[in-house]
Amino acid sequence: MSVSDSRAPRQDAQAPLLEVRDLKKHYPAARGLFRRAQRVIQAVDGVSFSVARGETLALVGESGCGKTTTGKAVLRLIQPTSGSVRLDGEELLDLPPERMREYRRHMQIIFQDPYASLNPRMTAGEIVGEPLRNFPAAGGRPRQQELAWLFSKVGLRPEAMRKYPHEFSGGQRQRLGIARALALRPRLIVCDEPVSALDVSVQAQVINLLMDLQQEMGIAYLFVAHDLAVVRHISHRVAVMYLGRIVEVADRDTLFSRPLHPYTEILLSAAPVPDPHRPAQRKLLPGDPPSPANPPSGCRFHTRCPLAQPVCRERQPALTERPGGPGATPGTQWVACHFR
Ligand code: SF4
Repeated sequence: MSVSDSRAPRQDAQAPLLEVRDLKKHYPAARGLFRRAQRVIQAVDGVSFSVARGETLALVGESGCGKTTTGKAVLRLIQPTSGSVRLDGEELLDLPPERMREYRRHMQIIFQDPYASLNPRMTAGEIVGEPLRNFPAAGGRPRQQELAWLFSKVGLRPEAMRKYPHEFSGGQRQRLGIARALALRPRLIVCDEPVSALDVSVQAQVINLLMDLQQEMGIAYLFVAHDLAVVRHISHRVAVMYLGRIVEVADRDTLFSRPLHPYTEILLSAAPVPDPHRPAQRKLLPGDPPSPANPPSGCRFHTRCPLAQPVCRERQPALTERPGGPGATPGTQWVACHFR
């Protein structure tokens, strides 16, 4: 997959579409037979970021780091424990259910498994048109014309409306999921590992479709993924999560060429190198990730970090801005590490 030049970093001058501050999602852990105190699983623990209009922010990290939980908490598909989520300045976590329902038309989701997310008893036309039952079509066209337009937008023929999900290939089913997400012309789509269940050849088609739609319709994506080649292709900025917290945020080119956090370095070193003349310098992450029910004190990465010092066990590093190299855009790289 080549890197598209159109993925230039967005400037801070753009007012953020989405602003997330100190978002937490804690779950009560199952209580053991002899355990008195209720333990808490800190799936997401104080995450802050913003997404500009028409921007793609990728959330990356190991499985279980909290990236999918963050995406669902932003949409209030799961109720956050605390924090703030603002869309166009409106605080979503305070909205009563009926107002939240209205806001949902501006925020949609594309799921990882296109087959599991489509009702097998509904035709493709019924699936894509389902959101239009509750809201008027944004295009102002009669429903059938609107459906035909949505199908053409994602590269499906209008005849496909009569088919059932099992009659489509995996890539076509994901196109249906994208058409359903587009039906209400959202400003933001949370893409939850949208291509990880697809063949590699189909992945590129779906990613390019998402990028074309963004260009045309100005949609912002919060793109949850673990495949760094896909992230490098589609994102403007990247936020790296470890054990429920963001440890580094940077524009895509800065992050891939000059990662600062030791965890980001190790994560990137494990990604395949597209240049055959450049030897892969793979660094291994020692041990398993600690449990979010019992996270390490101070910097959560200290139990696996090759640079850890005694202070790392005691003090949690704040996510702070780094000056960057010559010509760097201000505010392009933020890192949570005492020594980087
Ligand atoms: S704060 Fe310490 S443990 Fe955490 S990433 Fe930096 S050096 Fe490693």
